[in-house]
Amino acid sequence: MSLPLPEPWSEGAIFLTEEIAIKPHPEADGSGGYLFMHRDEQSEPDLHVAPGWCVGSFSFPDWTLVQREPLTVSPSILCVSHGVHGFITDGKWIGA
Ligand SMILES: [Zn+2]
Repeated sequence: MSLPLPEPWSEGAIFLTEEIAIKPHPEADGSGGYLFMHRDEQSEPDLHVAPGWCVGSFSFPDWTLVQREPLTVSPSILCVSHGVHGFITDGKWIGA
C-alpha cells in the first residue's frame, strides 16, 4: 500500500508524478535547490526520513537551473540508492 507523503515534506511539495515529488529547499523560492522525493515502499519509518518515501536533494549551482517556470534543470536526477533516474524538463518528470 502507498503511504501519502507526510508533513513536513508534503507542505509546498510539487508532484511531478504520483511517485515523484520535489520541494523547494532550503529557500522557499527554490533558488537554492529542491528536495527530491520518490516512493520507496521498502523504506523503514524513522525520525529522519518520510515513511514510504526516499528523500534526497539537488542544489544549485551543482545543478543548472535552465528555466524556473516551468522547471527545467540539468543534468538528470539520479537516486543512487534505488536507481530512480530521470530528467526534470518543463515541470515534468521524464524517466531516463
Ligand atoms: Zn531513493
